[in-house]
Amino acid sequence: MTDFVTQVRGRLSGDRELVFVQDNGEPARLTFAELDRRARAVAVWLTERGMTDRPALLLYPAGLDFTVAFLGCLYARVPAIPAPLPDAGAPHSSRVAALLRDSGAHLVLTDPAHMSQLSGLSARVVAPSADPDAWTAPDLRPDTIAYLQYTSGSTSEPRGVEVSHGNLLHNLESFLSLAGAEPPRRLAGWLPHYHDMGLVGLQLHALYAGADLVFMSPNAFVARPVRWLELISRYGADWTVSPDFGYSWCTRRITDEQLAGLDLSTLGMALSGAEPIKAATLADFERRFGPAGFRPTTWNPGYGLAECTLMVACVPRGQGVTVRSFAASALEQHQAIADPDGVPLVACGPVAGLDLRIVDPESCAPAPDGGIGEIWVAGPSVALGYRGRPEETRATFRAGGGRWLRTGDLGFLLDGQLYVTGRIKDVIIVNGRNLYPQDLEEAASRANSAGGRSAAFGIRRPDGREHVVLIQEVRHGDPVVLSETADRVMDLVTREFGIPLSLMLVARGGVRQTTSGKLRRRYMRELFRGGRLTPLHAELEPAVHDL
Ligand code: ATP
Ligand code: MG
Repeated sequence: MTDFVTQVRGRLSGDRELVFVQDNGEPARLTFAELDRRARAVAVWLTERGMTDRPALLLYPAGLDFTVAFLGCLYARVPAIPAPLPDAGAPHSSRVAALLRDSGAHLVLTDPAHMSQLSGLSARVVAPSADPDAWTAPDLRPDTIAYLQYTSGSTSEPRGVEVSHGNLLHNLESFLSLAGAEPPRRLAGWLPHYHDMGLVGLQLHALYAGADLVFMSPNAFVARPVRWLELISRYGADWTVSPDFGYSWCTRRITDEQLAGLDLSTLGMALSGAEPIKAATLADFERRFGPAGFRPTTWNPGYGLAECTLMVACVPRGQGVTVRSFAASALEQHQAIADPDGVPLVACGPVAGLDLRIVDPESCAPAPDGGIGEIWVAGPSVALGYRGRPEETRATFRAGGGRWLRTGDLGFLLDGQLYVTGRIKDVIIVNGRNLYPQDLEEAASRANSAGGRSAAFGIRRPDGREHVVLIQEVRHGDPVVLSETADRVMDLVTREFGIPLSLMLVARGGVRQTTSGKLRRRYMRELFRGGRLTPLHAELEPAVHDL
């Protein structure tokens, strides 16, 4: 059987359950059998309304209702589109409008609590009265679209990736194979369900693995990160996943007193992915949570993207982290040359059941050994394309004779593991050097001990050369303190990189991110160029004033 519905239904039995720990700490529970029953009722309701093959936008808060609705769509052959619930104050947000336009969704589904808030969108609540026993399985093929995964919008407007049943099954098999002989029994996490890592990596992975899922809302995690680790601790979870920022947020925010109550010794796998993985984040987390039973062999760094369903590469269970250092000057020339005093990079593991090659993005010729180039991927996890965007689909999904996906990311292979160095679109070229914005941002954050996000991007001068602009969030302060902070950041970054720089200090929240918490550097550049940022302090190169 080659569709997700048939596969997953075979596993939705027994006493496994979903546990959603609400923001007030109370658990809401749903057994797998009940999930299946409710999903069938949703499917019957959708089919009765002639929704087969018509996409439905799912605007749900974190919780069990989303999972029921999502599965119900798949049971009815309705392409599901998970998306973030718009803010209460802006129910007709331009993001929702754009999603509706872009996806051609015929229906908006939500939960009873958000009906009135979304009435302007004619949102519907699936009536639970439909008869689950009236459900019959639709005809599903490997290339039937299961859902549309919108990309995070880090580099451009989010695009809807058409993920098929075959794609999903292949990627979920890759997840299972990471675990080897010890498949997960209980997954725990807080990732948003509308992000590929939360949807596939956490929710669907749990269903497919026949494992319990214990989850909470992203907001609850951000407000009080210890809640995530308490979830693991209290429910004895053996598997979790987060982007780098989640682990570092825990290290920085969890107090000694909170730590004393934690037991992380049940955890066998902790995935990290979706954004650059910092060696320091892993080391700091190990040091901080080692006393709570966290073992260094628990880490599973990985790399993936929505266009490949989710996972491209990941370190399997028990193999631990490989961190290698490379000469900074060589990295800038797209060469990976080992240097113990160089830039540490975390290996993202072997490739998961896919073909992968490293390609010169200009000539599209294979990069030489040790060369850094664009990561190209081919195989059954590579999705069908972008919804309603034939040109972009061709350019991104049909490269190199038709079967290769261009990821837009740069990296290299070494000893069978993939190292990701950054995104092509974000690289700033200064005097023939390829500067990675995350390195500049990391230096800036070291100089600004008060914390806050930073975003680096290049702007083109009239003479065609690129100039680095750094936007740094700071706490409000008097002008003297701000000017001292600016001096420290300027000093450190110019000393380490030897380049001229423009710096703007902004208030907290001034550096924009996606709904999944990723930096939006290109959008920051747009805001900067349009004069739409409010500086608390700025030190701009004269040429920049005129741009
Ligand atoms: P958009 O495509 O809309 O700009 P996005 O690329 O952030 O947004 P996703 O598909 O959710 O949307 O994220 C995939 C991207 O995340 C990858 O292309 C890569 O740039 C980044 N990424 C994922 N894992 C890693 C990793 N381990 N190291 C560095 N970057 C990573
Ligand atoms: Mg992308």
